[in-house]
Amino acid sequence: SQKVVLITGCSSGIGLALAVRIAKDEKKRFMVYATMRNLSKGEALVEAAGKTLGRTLEIKQLDVCDGRSIKACVDSLPERRVDILISNAGMGLIGPIECQTIEEMKTVMDTNFFGLVRLMQELLPDMKRRKRGHIVVISSVMGIQGILFNDVYAASKFAVEGFCESLAVQALRFNLNISLIEPGPVITEFERKVYEEGLKVDLSKADKVTADMFTNIYLKNYSQIFETMGQMPEDIAEHTLKIITMDNPPFRHQTNTLYTPMTTLKYADPNGDLPIDTFYKMVFEHDKVFNASLNFIKLLRWRSRKSFTLDKDKAS
Ligand code: NAD
Repeated sequence: SQKVVLITGCSSGIGLALAVRIAKDEKKRFMVYATMRNLSKGEALVEAAGKTLGRTLEIKQLDVCDGRSIKACVDSLPERRVDILISNAGMGLIGPIECQTIEEMKTVMDTNFFGLVRLMQELLPDMKRRKRGHIVVISSVMGIQGILFNDVYAASKFAVEGFCESLAVQALRFNLNISLIEPGPVITEFERKVYEEGLKVDLSKADKVTADMFTNIYLKNYSQIFETMGQMPEDIAEHTLKIITMDNPPFRHQTNTLYTPMTTLKYADPNGDLPIDTFYKMVFEHDKVFNASLNFIKLLRWRSRKSFTLDKDKAS
């Protein structure tokens, strides 16, 4: 029988690509409920969905910041059944924290973190009862590693990861799966929106060094990072489709191999200094990046020698 998939934030970007890709599954294995906060923004999805609309794809209203809207959406589904939840809705925020209001930060936490919590409160009890379900969360590499001037956004994704890691143990008891998809940069509206908001940041509350760092280093390199490392939303959709069709889906999945060396730094050094030093050098001492990379490779080689050599004396 068809699996019911509920996806949030489908009016653009990754959510739209996901909804369309899963609804167009050649074997018609899924019935997709593509949800969005504002139904009047459904045009792009309607167009991309084509013939799947009304067949394997239906559009519904759902605002992850509004518990009543979540409940109304789930109540409208046959038997309230959701086999696969894809929590995708999210927003970014960049800039020095002294230039941001607590209200702005709370909106990010409310959307990215509490949005997921609300969905889980509504869906988890049913999934537990059925002993069937897969919760897939579009997290980010920033869910495991902080990035300059993304302080609150990274915190919201860390919150998501801690929440899911804790629940994953309980989920096992009910035969449920949880998977975190961790993309690096993806070329979507997100990138443009975040950048445009970044240009509007009132830097008068920041000191000169911080303001300069944000404008002349961070914003200046922003587009280049997306150009050189960015994936398309369709790539993320392809990765996610693979994850939801696996018998034993992984808890974490990074979509971008170009980014893996960066996240590996975190696990390579239990003190946590290696990624911070490396990011510092990348940002402020471009010429030293080569040396940093070299040190990293040396460390990896040292570690693999340690784990493969039984005789400590030989591992010099
Ligand atoms: P996007 O801005 O195109 O999509 C985000 C979607 O979430 C939008 O359609 C927006 O309307 C929706 N949304 C926001 N608040 C909502 C709410 N309260 N209720 C329902 N929907 C809401 O950007 P995207 O890149 O497709 O982002 C999707 C997810 O991917 C986000 O969780 C984001 O954090 C994550 N992500 C993005 C990137 C990237 O570089 N673009 C990288 C890693 C992870």
